[in-house]
Amino acid sequence: MEKLTNEILKQVIQPRPLKSHKGTFGKVLIIAGSQNYTGAALMATKAAVYTGAGLVTLATDPHNFTSVHAVLPEAMVVDLRDQTAVLQLAQTMNVIAMGPGLQPTLANTALLQRIINAATASQSLIMDATALNLWSQQSLTMTTNAQKIVLTPHAVEWQRLSQLALSTQQPSANLRCLRQKAPKQTVLVLKGAPTAIYDNQTGQIFQNTAGTAAMATGGTGDTLTGMIAGFLAQFSVQTAAILAAVYLHSYIAEQLAQKYYVVLPTQLSEAIPYWMHYFA
Ligand code: AMP
Ligand code: MG
Repeated sequence: MEKLTNEILKQVIQPRPLKSHKGTFGKVLIIAGSQNYTGAALMATKAAVYTGAGLVTLATDPHNFTSVHAVLPEAMVVDLRDQTAVLQLAQTMNVIAMGPGLQPTLANTALLQRIINAATASQSLIMDATALNLWSQQSLTMTTNAQKIVLTPHAVEWQRLSQLALSTQQPSANLRCLRQKAPKQTVLVLKGAPTAIYDNQTGQIFQNTAGTAAMATGGTGDTLTGMIAGFLAQFSVQTAAILAAVYLHSYIAEQLAQKYYVVLPTQLSEAIPYWMHYFA
């Protein structure tokens, strides 16, 4: 098991090329939120924006549109109920992240399956929260051309998906299950204290050495989903970019926890540009 350090940040985060424009830094689609879960969508989208993705669009319930525009004017929105529009837009994206705060409906299951089927070799797909739970409940066909599939369960979501009891979630069992269930290009980010990252292609397991109990609050995972999306959109579409996003998320929280009792996910996102500048 390889331990992550600051080196992964220096390796992945690069100074921005002089002649760059927003197209250089990729397009992200976040599919998240419902009437009662506006915050999850907002926090995931905010993290993608603050990580520096070129363009970020949120597909969500129209009930959330006004709040998104009010607190995150950088983001665009699309009506989640209009699946044709969402799928059309998805085709133009570099990264699609689905799950935070979504309702576990049949319509969302169908959308997830269509996104998986339609993903191309130049796109990455992140599945979090409800997307993982839908996969646990309904059988999804995980055949896809996507370049990377990133799964970001916490221990209970992984329990539902893997059917491994919490007590039997050992690295070798997790890796075996990942091999059985997921395509080769999948990276499993098994969140916890600490988080472990499993690369299904190489069988490598990485351990996140950063992190703090100040992260234990609602929305921290949604923020991680947005950060991974932002990193995959603008840096190489490799496992290293995912590792760097996971490490930076915890590293920033550790920095803030030197002064704050709890790290709010929105506060974490607001510190992302400072720390990316520091490591670039
Ligand atoms: P979620 O449960 O989806 O909101 O994700 C929680 C996020 O916060 C994950 O990235 C966890 O690794 C992180 N986290 C929560 N509690 C702790 C803790 N006590 N120590 C380190 N990281 C934590
Ligand atoms: Mg979560």
